Amino acid sequence: MYPNCPACEGENTYHDSIQFVCPDCAHEWNEQDVIEIDSDDDQLIVKDSNGNLLVDGDDVILVKDLKLKGSSEVLKKGTKYKSIRLVNGDHNVDCGKLLLKSEFLKKA
Ligand SMILES: [Zn+2]
Repeated sequence: MYPNCPACEGENTYHDSIQFVCPDCAHEWNEQDVIEIDSDDDQLIVKDSNGNLLVDGDDVILVKDLKLKGSSEVLKKGTKYKSIRLVNGDHNVDCGKLLLKSEFLKKA
């Protein structure tokens, strides 16, 4: 059973021992390409202030004082947040009760 053609959804695809070929639209691809594209979609690339990759479950430390919008509360430099979760958006790190930008954090 070969996968449908990613270009035209054709079902007459075959494998010529190097790559998949679609006889309907002449599209050629290999399995590796398809898998790589899939994983790229899922992976969120978030880097800390030092350019290190952050992942879900990391502990991070605040690298500068941050004033919370709409309140007098200040987040102190050096505050540690445990077990972060990466999210899509401008503020891309979920620290539990608040969302922060990864550029203000570093991996603990
Ligand atoms: Zn095709």
